[in-house]
Amino acid sequence: MSKVVVVGGGAAGMMAAVAAGRNGNEVLLIEKNEKLGKKLFITGKGRCNLTNDSDEQGLLANVVRNPKFLYSAFYGFNSAEVMDMVENAGCPLKTERGARVFPVSDRSSDVIKAFERLLDEAHVEVCLNTSVREIIVREGKAVGVRVLKKNANHTASKTMPIGGDFVIVCTGGFTYPLTGSTGDGYRFAQMTGHTVVKPRPSLVPFITKEKWPGNLAGLSLKNVSLIVKNGNKEISNGFGEMLFTHHGISGPLVLTASCYTDFEKMNDVHAFIDLKPALSEEQLDKRVLRDFSENENKNIINALSALLPQSLIPVVVSESGIDKDKKVHDITKAERAELIRNLKGLHLTVTGSAGPEEAIITSGGVSVKEIDPATMESKIVKGLFFAGEVLDVDALTGGFNLQIAWSTGYAAGSSTGE
Ligand SMILES: Cc1cc2nc3c(=O)[nH]c(=O)nc-3n(C[C@H](O)[C@H](O)[C@H](O)COP(=O)(O)OP(=O)(O)OC[C@H]3O[C@@H](n4cnc5c(N)ncnc54)[C@H](O)[C@@H]3O)c2cc1C
Repeated sequence: MSKVVVVGGGAAGMMAAVAAGRNGNEVLLIEKNEKLGKKLFITGKGRCNLTNDSDEQGLLANVVRNPKFLYSAFYGFNSAEVMDMVENAGCPLKTERGARVFPVSDRSSDVIKAFERLLDEAHVEVCLNTSVREIIVREGKAVGVRVLKKNANHTASKTMPIGGDFVIVCTGGFTYPLTGSTGDGYRFAQMTGHTVVKPRPSLVPFITKEKWPGNLAGLSLKNVSLIVKNGNKEISNGFGEMLFTHHGISGPLVLTASCYTDFEKMNDVHAFIDLKPALSEEQLDKRVLRDFSENENKNIINALSALLPQSLIPVVVSESGIDKDKKVHDITKAERAELIRNLKGLHLTVTGSAGPEEAIITSGGVSVKEIDPATMESKIVKGLFFAGEVLDVDALTGGFNLQIAWSTGYAAGSSTGE
């Protein structure tokens, strides 16, 4: 019987441990937190959007970085197989808009409980409060890990080696570090001779130069379009929902746009919100003229309620260079044209991202060129595997990032053994 050491008890680590256990190995799952799945617990706003009910091509189409690398892993263990596994472990699932899959209970803790049952059935030994500090490699082969173990009352700790025939690193990225994902796996990869593609926060809110979004913090806009440009080059163009935050903008449209924004080169990035995407400029002009004719003697600020959320009106009026107290009948043609221009493309200058603390995922990580896509084994160190977000792969929202963790974790775990 081979001994498998899995480092990190998140989504990828739990799946790798279950697969390795089912493969007849003796498995030790090491997690530095006091419990398993701390990040999984907060996914999907506490409801856990654990996968997307689409076929392999649908999954691949939503991967932003290195989709080709994930081909074998997705075909080897797809979303239907994850759903079967979780349901058979006592957690019924439901599918919502956009094929997003959640537990029927709407509680992420039920997904974690299902995995605890699966780990138990696969006879996996779970070692909590234990941080892996180093991967031990001898003659080009992984032979174990060195850990720092806290004692029961957390007053002292000691380091010790733990031997293993296979080591699977599932330490996640470096975002939301309070959940335990602090980028340790990148250090392990570099120490064992691997290339790490510079990790950066992704699926992350934008910070803007303009301060006015802060006055609207919490306001969400539905059915709008968002175009993000770097200079004249369009980076992303989407329709849907977004929201204002204390320091800029967030919500689904912005998170998606962030996947295509290079925050290292931020000299000329601009966001344009089309508040009325269903209307052409001409149609919108007619609509505004109609509203104006019904409110001729009112101040402009009181004449746009049918068109915009109340709190957004002063912003659009001011960005259009119109005095908020000007009477509608005094608005010039040029001022109306400027108003239309802003309604069709309210401008914000993007100066950066909200950073690792608020990013849903890490883009970048262990270079996939050095990993076998069928097994997740390193091409540099035998017996060493990497799975989940630690790898240089990431996807859009919708359950795709967790599916990456399940599929790569499964590929790694089931490739260990005799
Ligand atoms: C707020 C939020 C919401 C999200 N919602 C969704 C969603 O609904 N759907 C979706 O698909 N994705 C979602 N994601 C992304 C998803 O959570 C991650 O992509 C996924 O958890 C990655 O799994 P992982 O196992 O690779 O890493 P993680 O889940 O980060 O797990 C890594 C584990 O390794 C442990 N660890 C790290 N270093 C060590 C060490 N040295 N020794 C021992 N243990 C260590 C950590 O404590 C952690 O438990 C969300 C992310 C966030 C932050």
